[in-house]
Amino acid sequence: MESYIKKINDRVRAKHDEKGAKKIKKTYLIVGGLTLGIGLAGFVSAFITFFVLFFETKTEDAFIAWEVAVPFILMIVAGSVVTRIGDMLLKDEEIAENERLKKEEKQALIDKKNSKKRLDKNPLIGAIVGDVAGSIYEFNNIRTKDCQLFTKDCHFTDDSVLSIAVYKALKECRGDYSNLYQQTKSCVNEVGRRYENCGYGGMFKKWLNSTTQMPYESFGNGSAMRVSAVAMFANDLEQVKSLSKEVTRITHNHPEGLKGAEATAVAIFLAKKKKSKEEIKKYIEENYYSLDFDYDMLNKNYKFNETCQGTVPQAIYCFLISDSFEDCLRTSISIGGDTDTLCAISCAIAGQYYKVPKEFKEKAFEYLDDYLKDIIK
Ligand SMILES: [Mg+2]
Repeated sequence: MESYIKKINDRVRAKHDEKGAKKIKKTYLIVGGLTLGIGLAGFVSAFITFFVLFFETKTEDAFIAWEVAVPFILMIVAGSVVTRIGDMLLKDEEIAENERLKKEEKQALIDKKNSKKRLDKNPLIGAIVGDVAGSIYEFNNIRTKDCQLFTKDCHFTDDSVLSIAVYKALKECRGDYSNLYQQTKSCVNEVGRRYENCGYGGMFKKWLNSTTQMPYESFGNGSAMRVSAVAMFANDLEQVKSLSKEVTRITHNHPEGLKGAEATAVAIFLAKKKKSKEEIKKYIEENYYSLDFDYDMLNKNYKFNETCQGTVPQAIYCFLISDSFEDCLRTSISIGGDTDTLCAISCAIAGQYYKVPKEFKEKAFEYLDDYLKDIIK
């Protein structure tokens, strides 16, 4: 019986979709139920007839009623079998449905966990939020934390574009970074050329449009503002440094350019490894820059500076003295300077160390176009 039902089940499944299969199985139940019902009614009628005849005639003629009952008995048997088949098939369908639902629930949980992971601790998203929020203050320093973060004039700039390009390059390497240098060049060209007017420095613009695209010994802060994704892909400090070098030296092959990117990537990576601010500060001071600043002095006197050595230490300092992602962003805006880049660097570290608040991500993403959003999805 079981194997017979299995055969029917397999045939139904092979020929029909889920909806069609359900219909067929319901038909089994309805037809089986009706047959069983009629059979039972007929059998009961025959039984009553037999008793009435037996008591009235007291002869063997009453047994004729049992002959009439035979087809009804057959109907009871057939109805029971068909109903049983329908019942088994529906049960099987329910099991499949439950399994499907369980699978879907499990997948939804995994997706939620992954998206939370991406959202909560993400230096790239942090950099983008910093860039967009800082974009309106680059040439209009306001020197206060009490400022509007996402106004209608905000926009994404080269910091977001090139950070996303570097992320794309790393992602497309799929774990084999032996060709990262060329891959970065290719992605920076592919993504970068779409946004000629997003705020590139003169030298970079020239590089982007040249045929040879040779590195130009830059030590501009552009190397640090685009490096955040390195920390997402690297597994240890040595790899952070080697990946940082590969994505940076396509243009910024000056020691200070390489150092600025590496210090930024290392700070993010240490945050990823749950190091304390004291530990991050110690490592940066011992290996890269002095961070001996005073906030009030920076707030009053820090000037626009496009070099790595004039931006990266200040950005790291802003992160170190902050108490939340938002505070890091506001602190960075309040010291002025090359605000979008400063914020992109400090908020990349903060995005890894704290959580990027969901509403900040959503706000900043409103300024991105679909092409950029698709890359980081
Ligand atoms: Mg910029």
